[in-house]
Amino acid sequence: MYFSKNYTISQYQHLIFMEGTLTARDRVGVQDFVLLENYTSEAAFIENLRRRFKENLIYTYIGSVLVSVNPYKELEIYSKAHMERYRGVSFYEISPHIYAVSDNTYRALRTERKDQCILISGESGAGKTEASKKILQYYSATCPISDNMSTLRDRLLQSTPVLEAFGNAKTLRNDNSSRFGKYMDVQFDFRGAPIGGHILNYLLENTRVVHQNHGERNFHIFYQLLEGGDQDLLSKLGLERNALKYHYLVKGCCPRVSSINDKNDWRTVTKALAVIGFRDEEVEDLFNIIASVLHLGNIQFGEGQDEQTEITTETQHNYLSKLLGVDGVALKDALTHKKLTAKGEEMISPLSFEQAVAARDALAKAVYGRTFTWLVAQINKSLAFKDDVYNSSKGSSSVIGLLDIYGFEVFQHNSFEQFCINYCNEKLQQLFIELTLKSEQEDYEAEGISWEPVKYFDNKIICDLVEEKHKGFIAILDEECLRPGESNDISFLEKLEDTLGGHAHFVTHKLANGKTRKTVGREEFRLIHYAGEVNYSVSGFLDKNNDLLYRNLKEVLCQSDSQILRECFQREEVTDQKRPETAATQFKNSLAKLMEILMCKEPSYVRCIKPNDAKQPGRFDEALVRHQVKYLGLMENLRVRRAGFAYRRHYQAFLQRYKCLCPGTWPNWHGKLADGVATLVQHLGYKPEEYKLGKTKIFIRFPKTLFTTEDALDA
Ligand code: ATP
Ligand code: MG
Repeated sequence: MYFSKNYTISQYQHLIFMEGTLTARDRVGVQDFVLLENYTSEAAFIENLRRRFKENLIYTYIGSVLVSVNPYKELEIYSKAHMERYRGVSFYEISPHIYAVSDNTYRALRTERKDQCILISGESGAGKTEASKKILQYYSATCPISDNMSTLRDRLLQSTPVLEAFGNAKTLRNDNSSRFGKYMDVQFDFRGAPIGGHILNYLLENTRVVHQNHGERNFHIFYQLLEGGDQDLLSKLGLERNALKYHYLVKGCCPRVSSINDKNDWRTVTKALAVIGFRDEEVEDLFNIIASVLHLGNIQFGEGQDEQTEITTETQHNYLSKLLGVDGVALKDALTHKKLTAKGEEMISPLSFEQAVAARDALAKAVYGRTFTWLVAQINKSLAFKDDVYNSSKGSSSVIGLLDIYGFEVFQHNSFEQFCINYCNEKLQQLFIELTLKSEQEDYEAEGISWEPVKYFDNKIICDLVEEKHKGFIAILDEECLRPGESNDISFLEKLEDTLGGHAHFVTHKLANGKTRKTVGREEFRLIHYAGEVNYSVSGFLDKNNDLLYRNLKEVLCQSDSQILRECFQREEVTDQKRPETAATQFKNSLAKLMEILMCKEPSYVRCIKPNDAKQPGRFDEALVRHQVKYLGLMENLRVRRAGFAYRRHYQAFLQRYKCLCPGTWPNWHGKLADGVATLVQHLGYKPEEYKLGKTKIFIRFPKTLFTTEDALDA
């Protein structure tokens, strides 16, 4: 063989791991699924993942999509040296890595001048947030720094611990589970230096503030405050250093988690708040609110005079009203009464015990949820372009967006939350179809290659089912929420049946022949999603969709002394007679905006997989992985990618790698690149049906052709 001495030793080591020798391939699998001989076999797909996982090779490509398997242990692959190794190197030259995706995206931004986005998906615990942190770390370590922009870089990095403290919690699936969806734009100037950022947040799981399932916790920040806050602060807030004292913190019976150090995390978060630029008064105000939620959870009700519900925990109430900065009497009234408007007249009616408990919990959720939104808005202010920078780079800044959002969820019991999450995944699949198939097509067209269009399932029909005006799922849900007193979850289900019954993707227990379908419960409906069937229990849909916070509670809060609460509860909301948007409509609208943002960007995909449910290293549970491969649509992804040509490579890269195999091109080819490649493949004996030559790239139809060539390198 004509040995290519122009590789350094370390590069060469990489290369043998890449598509290397047959034995290496047997052991470590292929680094790109498109090279799988038996590409339609799910078993072969999973076997390839498993082999690589056993060798600590957690990353594999499907074309340019990165599949990542959570190793559940620290791997020595994220050092500064690794970052350097991936700088400016193209995909096929080096083993798959999250840094390769980060670097390719960045280079595409710089050279093509087109905004980019990296979409990270996968189920809870699969490693989405870790992946997005690694991307940010890569940019902050490798991108040039504009003058005075080191502060911005620190703020970008420090926004993560803050958002995680307030938006993440320990769940059964993940000790640091993000309970909100996150999209973050990083803006770069004309020199490629980061100059700004912006975060959009989606659907925080508010219910966690008042209830946690067994083995789960509330949001980290509560425990951090109690463990890490100094004694003076806790005394001022009227708190004890004992999570067990707070009803809202003990529902899941696990205030402590071995993998979490709340005390250290408190220090990290308070420092991060300072780096981001929160003023002392703001931080004070913020923790007053966090503490007020804990006091709110300890507010108890009992029966007073005239059998009316009243608050029986006076001390808690005093702390609560002080920390919320509101009038104590007005708050007491608002927690035990509701204001109704009937025939233009306002009436006050007392709340029952259960209603008062529900009003209290609704207040806790609203205060926490809106404070979280406020927090994101403040972070955005601190990450925003500063005017002088903006002016100097006006018109030439560009953006990389990072989406870290919940993947498809299918549990034993699925409810409103899973419905929203799975709807979101349908939208992302739509985007994937549009952007990926389109770009695949564009690549062939740009290169002048003829190809057969690929058949695929277009899930637009499911998106329409959910979001269509008047007769879509959300429209029906909103309509039922408009009839308080007359409607309930079951009447909603009946309405769904009336309107959507017969739709190919909507199923209830009723069969067309009048019989009963056994696989769908009487209080359930089934949606046939692009990734599979999911049964949803209709219970709680109406309540979760409605804004349950009574108007008089809002009135009290919009008069608060707290600047944060006044921003969160604005007067117009109380005076405006318009009905507030429901949760589902709000979500639908924010998703539509997200799609618009993503649609004009070049996408890259990271698909994360969780190898086992025990959060353990080294365990690869095939059944669990198979389930995720299905719900992530990876087989379809591969099929689409393979429908045309398995492999494509720029002439330059192809020639560089294989020129040593042909005397005509070795050691250097001086003519046109296309002619060099033609000479090379002729010498290698490629048959005309095996490849096509485009304008700048060679397209190879079958992996075997490439393997044979690769093997020749080692012969
Ligand atoms: P959720 O949807 O619940 O937010 P997620 O997909 O964001 O889940 P992560 O929080 O990123 O999941 O990962 C869960 C845990 O798995 C991490 O806390 C970490 O312990 C481990 N982990 C994930 N990715 C890696 C990695 N590349 N290397 C080492 N450990 C990892
Ligand atoms: Mg996460």
